[in-house]
Amino acid sequence: MISHKTISKVNKYVYLKKSKIHSKGLFALKKIPVGTRIIEYTGEIITKREGTRRADTTVKLSKRNPSKGATYIFEIDKKHDLDGGSIRNNPAKYINHSCNPNCKYKIIKKQIWIYSVRDIARGEEITYNYGFGWDSRNYSKYACKCGSANCVGYILEKKSWVKLEKRLARYIKEASRK
Ligand SMILES: [Zn+2]
Repeated sequence: MISHKTISKVNKYVYLKKSKIHSKGLFALKKIPVGTRIIEYTGEIITKREGTRRADTTVKLSKRNPSKGATYIFEIDKKHDLDGGSIRNNPAKYINHSCNPNCKYKIIKKQIWIYSVRDIARGEEITYNYGFGWDSRNYSKYACKCGSANCVGYILEKKSWVKLEKRLARYIKEASRK
């Protein structure tokens, strides 16, 4: 039973509610077919240099207070980033990362769209892979609690999963020798 006190409708597809993955999340109001543009991830368009500065500041903040560690910077092209955290009305920032996501993001004419990559059932949490890179961030700072059967334990772009697997296997091997 969904209580009206704890949810709020965002648009015709999704509502905001407490999430088991992290803090709050967006959930499907109704069945959403594959290929649907669900919500635009809005924000302030800034230069790459400013984006890097803001991301670095967030990393420093998160060292002191992990609850302030969220980063909402997206790369939209080679010269520009989009900061979804600096504006008030960007409910898409509540979408959680998952290792087995039902959405992806796509940049269309400098707009970021979250669209479904499979059919989504009513009540299902909306997720996408945040695509955090291996080199640009220290992956171990971003633990993943998505709860998927294939969860790799960290918020990490899919193309770096093999690298992570190799590193973890090496740690296990080294630990077993001691
Ligand atoms: Zn995960």
